[in-house]
Amino acid sequence: MAYEKEVRPETICVQGSGEKNDRYGAVSMPVYLSATYAHPALGESTGYAYSRVNNPTRDELQKTVAALEKGTDALAFSTGMAAVTAVFELFGTGAHIVATDDVYGGSERLWEHLGKRFGLQVDSVDTSDLNKLEASIRPETKAVFLETPSNPTMKVTDIRKASEIAKKHGCLLIVDNTFLSPYFQQPLSLGADIVVHSGTKYLGGHNDVLAGFTVVKEEKLAEKLRFIYKTTGSCLSPTDSFLVLRGIKTLALRMERHQENALALALWLQKHPKVSEVYYIGLPDRPDKAITDSQCSGYGGMVSFRVDSSDTAVKLLKDVKLIRFAESLGGVESLLTYPYKQTHAEVPEELRKKLGIDDTLMRLSVGIENVQDLIEDLEQAF
Ligand SMILES: *Cc1c(COP(=O)(O)O)cnc(C)c1O
Repeated sequence: MAYEKEVRPETICVQGSGEKNDRYGAVSMPVYLSATYAHPALGESTGYAYSRVNNPTRDELQKTVAALEKGTDALAFSTGMAAVTAVFELFGTGAHIVATDDVYGGSERLWEHLGKRFGLQVDSVDTSDLNKLEASIRPETKAVFLETPSNPTMKVTDIRKASEIAKKHGCLLIVDNTFLSPYFQQPLSLGADIVVHSGTKYLGGHNDVLAGFTVVKEEKLAEKLRFIYKTTGSCLSPTDSFLVLRGIKTLALRMERHQENALALALWLQKHPKVSEVYYIGLPDRPDKAITDSQCSGYGGMVSFRVDSSDTAVKLLKDVKLIRFAESLGGVESLLTYPYKQTHAEVPEELRKKLGIDDTLMRLSVGIENVQDLIEDLEQAF
């Protein structure tokens, strides 16, 4: 770290790595579009050789995300799925992985289709139940993959306890930290070995760039992932690195507002006659509130809810005006998603049924608009 003394997350968001190494004193990290870098002489290097391996703009972004996650090494990928794929490339044929059953649909698709083809076995388990998690571990289990809160039903897994279980059985603990962002949750400091992100969501924050991250704190793991990274080549471009850096500058402010709006909306939805259930980890009556408060400093902006019929769901999707009916999350704009037909459309029906992902479940990524406007928009759509 380039700071003279340790600084807090809000400052890291704005000032990044704290390194001031631009010869012109640029306050904003320049976009280095060079694909390759000239060497002063044989055996000498500027630190850069070829932009697939490293690039100054991307390096600044990686250092910023590593600092926010309290890790030592971050890698920026072209998408979140590229990051998840790189992590899965750590494991060989015959490896078994225990994963949260209620994960991002794309991750599920990765291991159901490509993973199987490469001889990986992944068991989908309700990891919020630690007994079930431990019971699913076998001698050939190499890793536990968590998404907490889960997607879309917001189940919370105790990361510290999951890490104890993983360690006891010699497994790596991987946490997809997309939903809360490092501003509200830092799994590496709770015992996780690898954090993955879809940087497309809160880190980018403006629905204008795709990105993904891995973050670790252990040197050997960092080396393995860097090798996969330079070999497979799904690196983030310099311009996209700039966009994510720019997004992160306001991460703290945005997360606070997302959370404030999400709580107000969740409480409003709870009282709505056409809503039977609301899933938001910040609701005071949640049974897992103590676990959440022990591992997160905030609750984020993701709210799911169940309506009285699929007709109501279809009407909402059609009649929202400010809120847009679209996939994705974590941007400043509020988005309403229908997991059954969108993010989780390819999850096997049997698993969806078990998870409660049916045609009455809606997921709302609460943006940073005026919350009263959002409530009025939902009210007229209902
Ligand atoms: C979106 C998402 C991903 C995949 O990220 P992309 O950037 O879309 O490839 C992975 N995990 C979670 C939790 C996500 O929401």
